[in-house]
Amino acid sequence: MEFQDKAQSEDASVGFQMLSNIRIVMVNTTHPGNIGAAARAMKTMGLSELVLVEPKRPIDDEAIARSSGATDVLESAQIVPSLEEAIEDCGLVIGTSARSRSIPWPLLNPRQCAEQSVLTSKRQKVAIIFGREDRGLTNEELAKCNFHVHIPTNPDYSSLNIGAAIQVICYEMRMAIELQVSGDEQLWGVEWDRELASSKELDGLIDHLEQVMVTSEFLDPENPRYIMTRMRRLFNRAMPDKVEVNVFRGILSSITKKLGR
Ligand code: SAH
Repeated sequence: MEFQDKAQSEDASVGFQMLSNIRIVMVNTTHPGNIGAAARAMKTMGLSELVLVEPKRPIDDEAIARSSGATDVLESAQIVPSLEEAIEDCGLVIGTSARSRSIPWPLLNPRQCAEQSVLTSKRQKVAIIFGREDRGLTNEELAKCNFHVHIPTNPDYSSLNIGAAIQVICYEMRMAIELQVSGDEQLWGVEWDRELASSKELDGLIDHLEQVMVTSEFLDPENPRYIMTRMRRLFNRAMPDKVEVNVFRGILSSITKKLGR
């Protein structure tokens, strides 16, 4: 225990405390053993915040065995009923994908994912979402993300065990900080003057936009096609801050008022 405490305090002194703002989210996990493996992968790299969206089976003895001593991560894991709840306070949301999907989305490799995450985690919460063992994340879940991340693999055999995927992603997070601490690499991107809008605030904006699009008869609710998914992709790609979202909602409200509805 003493050794662990020492390791943690060293972590805190050299900038690794940012890792506590990076949340690992697992959606509908089938095997509790994989939750244990995830806890172990996280703890070895210095991450601690695990959120489980409706796991099919609860944390059990197998999960504890596979966590190999990372029981603190399992004990503090939160269980929530929806993905929305798991990410609502996050300024950056990244979804993992083992294959390409119908509508292309801004795609990162694990190294770029870590750079973005570490940069944002200085001020805000970040979530990385992992999917079901058998079929990954749905298109609707992936549409909630600013970016997707794919771990490069053999194209003929591209699906990693979820615990292994979490290990690779968390390793890159640690590596991004190691490089920054040793001064080998400057993290790219600028530090923004305002906080990024949270996932919940973006959901609010997109719902508001949809209402106005229906009221103005731009959008036919009977035949919405992919328009709202495309609008969601636009806002996720732009990553607006809180002020920008408020201004946009103000514009939408003024349009509704002028339409006299
Ligand atoms: N058959 C599923 C694979 C699920 S693997 C599918 O086609 O989507 C279970 C989870 O492990 C995925 O949802 C993802 O979170 C992670 N994972 C597996 N391989 C990955 C890869 N190459 N890149 C990123 N994440 C991966």
